[in-house]
Formats: sequence, structure tokens, C-alpha cells
Amino acid sequence: MSKSDLSSFHEALLNAKRILAVCGAGLSASSGIPTFRGAGGMWRKHNALELATPEAFRKDPGLVWQFYSLRRHKALTSSPNAAHYALAELARKRPPPEFLTLTQNVDGLSEAAGHVNCPLSDPLKSIEYLHGSLYHVRCARVWCRYSRFDISDPIVPSLLVPSEGLDGDEASWTSDVELPRCPQCKTGLLRPGVVWFGEELDSQMLKRIQQYIERDPVDLCIVIGTSGTVYPAAGYANLVKAQGGKVAIVDIDCSVRGNADWLFEGDAAKLIPEMLEPIIGKIEVPPERPTVKECLEKQAKEKEEEAAAAAVVTRTWK
Ligand SMILES: [Zn+2]
Repeated sequence: MSKSDLSSFHEALLNAKRILAVCGAGLSASSGIPTFRGAGGMWRKHNALELATPEAFRKDPGLVWQFYSLRRHKALTSSPNAAHYALAELARKRPPPEFLTLTQNVDGLSEAAGHVNCPLSDPLKSIEYLHGSLYHVRCARVWCRYSRFDISDPIVPSLLVPSEGLDGDEASWTSDVELPRCPQCKTGLLRPGVVWFGEELDSQMLKRIQQYIERDPVDLCIVIGTSGTVYPAAGYANLVKAQGGKVAIVDIDCSVRGNADWLFEGDAAKLIPEMLEPIIGKIEVPPERPTVKECLEKQAKEKEEEAAAAAVVTRTWK
């Protein structure tokens, strides 16, 4: 990126009262998360996009679960990169409603970097998960409301990812797959809590996002690592622009980009920390590079300890 571009971006960043980030797969690319979108998007002999549908799950839940078991395994064993940590720090320095992140990613890397909504009961969010999460599994039966947070890898023993991983022979993965079942209704299968093609995004979430953008104008929208072709994410930058805000695009390939005010071409993990530095300072990635699984386990434990401490306080006061 050029120096003058970066300094004009820094000026806009420091003056912005409300900032919106829209994140896609490119944010997690340097953490090694496969997107299955480029290069034909194939997983083994299947089109990955066709596996991410309710129809595919109805037809062959075992195959779809194998695909998701692999994605969960890949994501849980990866580590957040400097861009995840930088955005998490910006969320701390600019709490809601000053900064909102919308992410299309379901990999848990942002949460692992500490980019979380806190406290959970607060209606004002720091981050919204447009396409759900690999770790919020729920019952596939629409009338059953069961769901849980689950980072076990594998989720059931028969979904253990074979050592050949991505490209291995499908036959080496047992076809007699015992799938995770709903403990509540006892009849439904559990499914990953992600939004599949052909499914609708959470309407309450969409309403919150709309309100955020319309309540007060967003001064600056940073679009990170997304091809900008998947709606509604693609539409938010246009909305900000239409209301007089500025748009910066950060992507590995910025060739087709409409009316952005800044184009920063390259790896988000390198560019985002530099772009946000006037607010967040120098960002430090933990040298031991903890994995998503380690980070989320630690956070869950801390939450439990906090709840236990709060319970002690409540008892003391009674
Ligand atoms: Zn159920």
C-alpha cells in the first residue's frame, strides 16, 4: 500500500465515530483455513458448495457431516492471525456502538482472538456472525429448538478425520457413520449451526445490523477478504457509501472493486494491523500461537469461573 493512501486512511479512521468491518474468508486465509470457493471448490469428488445445502444433508447426512467434521478439525487446530487480534483490539478500544464487525466466517478464529460480545446479554454487539458457527450444533428438526456449543474434535468417534485429511481416499473414511443425535427429541440428527445455501439468515440479526447502519451514519466501512459477491455482506458497503461514508477494501486481489475509496491489496494479516495502528498501537500475536480449540476452551473455563465467583458473591449477600 502506498504511504499517502495509508495516511489518508489513518486520518479517516481517527475521525470516524462509527466504523463497520465486513469480513470474509480472506481474513482467515493466512491461518490456513481452506475456503472451498476458489479453483472449482472441490472437496474430494464433490462440489463443496453443493454439500453446504439442506438438500445434501437430507440426502446424505453422513457425507455432509464428514465434510463438516474436516472443516471443524481444520479450524479448531488453526490459530488466529494478526488481523484477528487487531480487529479484536479495535473492538476493545471502540466498544459498541462505535465499531461493529460482520463476519461471514464460521471458523471461530475471531472469537479465539478475543473478539467477542461481552457481556452476552448486552443487546449492543461487537460482532455478528452472518453465517453462524461451526461450533453451534443444533437439531436438524425444525420444531426442536435444541442447540449447544460444541468444540469436541471429532464430535462423535466415527467422524474422526482420517490422517490423509483433505485429499485422502473417501473409502478410508468409514461409510458406516454413526452421526451425532439430538439428546432432546432423541429422533433428530444434529447439524452444524451454519447457514447453508438456500437458507435464510437470522432475521433478528439482520434487523440489528440494519438498525446499526441506519441509526447514525457509519463513517468508515472496511471490507476484508471477501469477494464482495455474497449478499447481504456485499450490500452493506454500498449502503455505507450511499449514506456518505467511506469504504476501504483489503483483499489479496483488488481487481474488480467498484467505488471504494481505498484499495489495499495483499494479505489481511499483514495489512490490517498497520491500518488500525493509530488506534490499537502495535499488535502482538501470542508467540506460542494458541489454537482455536485451546483459546475457546480457556474462554469457556474463565466464564465458568466467573459464574462460580458470582454465585459465591450472591450467597454471601443473602
Ligand atoms: Zn431435537
